[in-house]
Amino acid sequence: MKLHVQTLFVAIGLGIKRNWHIFLAIIAGIIFGNYIFEHPQAVIFGKFSIQSIVSLLNVIGQAFIRVIQMVVIPLVCSAIVVGISSIGDSKQIGKFGKRMLLYYGIITILAVVIGAGLALSFQPGLGVQNFISESAANTIQAQVSGYIATQNDIGSIFLNMIPQNPLESLAKGEMIPIIFFALIFSLALSKIGEINRPIVSIFESIFAATMKITDWIMIFAAPGIFALTTTAVSSFGLSIFSTISKFFAIVFVGFCIQFFIVYPLILKIFSKVPVSTFYTAIIEALLVAFGTASSSATLPLTIACCEKRGISHKVCSFVLPLGATLNMDGTALFQMVCIIFLTQAYGVTLEPVQIICIGFLIIIASSTCAGIPGAGLITIALVLNGIGLTPQQLLEGFAFLFAIDRVVDMLRTTVNVASDAVVAAVIADNENEIDYDLLNDTEQYKEII
Ligand code: ASP
Repeated sequence: MKLHVQTLFVAIGLGIKRNWHIFLAIIAGIIFGNYIFEHPQAVIFGKFSIQSIVSLLNVIGQAFIRVIQMVVIPLVCSAIVVGISSIGDSKQIGKFGKRMLLYYGIITILAVVIGAGLALSFQPGLGVQNFISESAANTIQAQVSGYIATQNDIGSIFLNMIPQNPLESLAKGEMIPIIFFALIFSLALSKIGEINRPIVSIFESIFAATMKITDWIMIFAAPGIFALTTTAVSSFGLSIFSTISKFFAIVFVGFCIQFFIVYPLILKIFSKVPVSTFYTAIIEALLVAFGTASSSATLPLTIACCEKRGISHKVCSFVLPLGATLNMDGTALFQMVCIIFLTQAYGVTLEPVQIICIGFLIIIASSTCAGIPGAGLITIALVLNGIGLTPQQLLEGFAFLFAIDRVVDMLRTTVNVASDAVVAAVIADNENEIDYDLLNDTEQYKEII
């Protein structure tokens, strides 16, 4: 019984002393953000206009995200190089890689199925049909039925994963090409014997230094997350949820199914990692994911939580950076609900085969989606393309999605980050790379934030 209560507390971020300040920052951000939305002309302490406060909070929030993002590229590169060269033998790398693809695959497919099941059963798009003009709906219906799917765009997506110039990709912060190069480079390093030592040591130092910077940045987590939440909520207020409540409720229920049913089942079926203890271990990462809406920005925290609480460095440094970039099951679930929402809103009927094709496109679109705020809504363009549409044509429908995207993004990022950590834990268990004494001793957890 005690465990269940603890799980519940973990889920809502209560009852865990060390995180109270982040949790309070989120609640305060929601309340203050809604106040700003409802009183745009208010003056605080008799002299500060609400707009000047919003601008200030915007700067604080952006600064917080920027400093975290600042360490992401060195962290991802060094984690992959150190991870792969510490695994050493290529058989083990292959084993890790296969398991990783298997578990990330299962989780993402389940997310797409859950999203489709919920959206088709509860039909969130019907409620907004009144807001869509008839002519727009007619055009869209004609266009979708006349569309012959073309594979060209998917081909170019694959090509874009291969960097022509890795330094250019580094400078532009293109995560997938960077990871592609880092993987090949690290594999090569692991094959050249002792001569790799100088470069591996440099990357070990870079990894340690970026983790140290993360510790420093986290001192500012509470104000940063308060600022981000306030500015997000202040732009639309809480009332927007009543207009689009069905869509929001469906997405929310889908996320809860992933978080409270699918992941615990995966942990139980494929490993002996205790669910509530593990959620306790990664709670800081989940709260930061919620606050920043960025899996990449949360990556240093995800690594810190997993590593300091028992999962080996080998597994963390290989599985988590790849997961933060490629495994976006929360995003996939959200995109599935969005597509069905939009097609319902415009009166387009999708055949089962089309829904299956859309599912495949979503698996690709979500994994090419960067771990940054808002990326999931933008990569929907790729999926729409698969049924012959562009977001510009569906602007009225998109307006609803944009209005609430930040909050939905905070939720789906939390789900994305949780699944990365869950997969790392399962692989660590399968490969005897987990220290259960450290994981189970929650009383002794060192503070990360
Ligand atoms: N913000 C999400 C993430 O970083 C991606 C998305 O927009 O869905 O995981």
